[in-house]
Amino acid sequence: SNQIRIGIAGYGNLGRGVEAAIAKNPDMALVGVFTRRSPESVTPLFPQAQVHSTSLLSEFRDVVDVLILCGGSKDDLPRQGPEMAAMFNVVDSFDTHARIPEYFDSVDAPARANGKTALISIGWDPGMFSINRLYGEALLPDGATYTFWGKGLSQGHSDAIRRVPGVKAGVQYTLPSSEAIELVRSGSRPELSTRQKHTRECYVVLDEGADAAAVEHAIVTMPNYFADYDTQVHFVSEEVLRREHGRMPHGGFVIRSGNTSEAHAQVIEYSLQLESNPEFTASVLVAHARAAYRLNQQGQYGAKTAFDVPPGLLSIKSAEQLRAELL
Ligand code: NAP
Repeated sequence: SNQIRIGIAGYGNLGRGVEAAIAKNPDMALVGVFTRRSPESVTPLFPQAQVHSTSLLSEFRDVVDVLILCGGSKDDLPRQGPEMAAMFNVVDSFDTHARIPEYFDSVDAPARANGKTALISIGWDPGMFSINRLYGEALLPDGATYTFWGKGLSQGHSDAIRRVPGVKAGVQYTLPSSEAIELVRSGSRPELSTRQKHTRECYVVLDEGADAAAVEHAIVTMPNYFADYDTQVHFVSEEVLRREHGRMPHGGFVIRSGNTSEAHAQVIEYSLQLESNPEFTASVLVAHARAAYRLNQQGQYGAKTAFDVPPGLLSIKSAEQLRAELL
């Protein structure tokens, strides 16, 4: 068959999402899941999926067209990205925005030297939101761009509240302020402070005997994470946390507000409402695996970002079909 053969490196939330997304793309086939843990300890979604040790990956060079890297941005990708880009075409979702330039360079050199294509920082932010920020600026140069996140579960902020003494478990949601969004949509180009744009909501399970007031104070005054925001803390039982806060929703808005003349304001908006952040991110990664494969076939080697991918290459449809059906 002429399916694109995909490998999944790392099997957490994103890895599972990629497995689900491959099943929705008939031009893709899963070669296998690769994990640093013992393969027997990992149970794939589909029983026919093979699980191998990451240490065997180099043996799969000729049977994997694109390896989708599903490791964490903090500790996994800075090592896995450069290493894997020397052997495979890769796609990853590296999302530490401030480090993207150095990560790009670290992946670019090995990919180029080995004739591989590496699409880095793919997903929704960075990723689809980045593309929409770019379109906004390019189409409305006299304007302002606004990104709002949420309602969404923030892993980093949830980890931060779980480190507060007296906290047994907890999650944190970021919420965009609806007043701020309405103001932006009006085309008035407001200047918004951090506090005006988002609020934070925490659902916390206390340790037995912990002082609720002290825990709340420690959370809302935490520098970098909460001090610059209006933060609400709700105390809940373990049962409620498990039942009502076990999902990973996310999303947000990219809005460009600009003027094409003194008389006319123009507003562009892109929004996402995601029941599962990792499943959506994975779906974006899989579409980009198709593009990575095609770019590699065209001889376009090295690291690239969402900005460098012609949109037609993401589609399962041919250029002719796209012109006839979507243009
Ligand atoms: P995760 O579930 O923590 O998985 C990360 C890695 O940890 C996996 O690849 C897996 O590697 C290992 N792992 C998973 N479960 C484990 C377990 N039970 N015990 C030990 N190790 C385990 O992270 P994730 O939710 O998939 O997210 C991965 C990255 O995606 C995030 O760091 C974030 O940067 C990025 N992301 C980007 C966007 C975007 O829009 N660009 C959006 C969402 C997420 P092994 O199988 O090799 O052990």
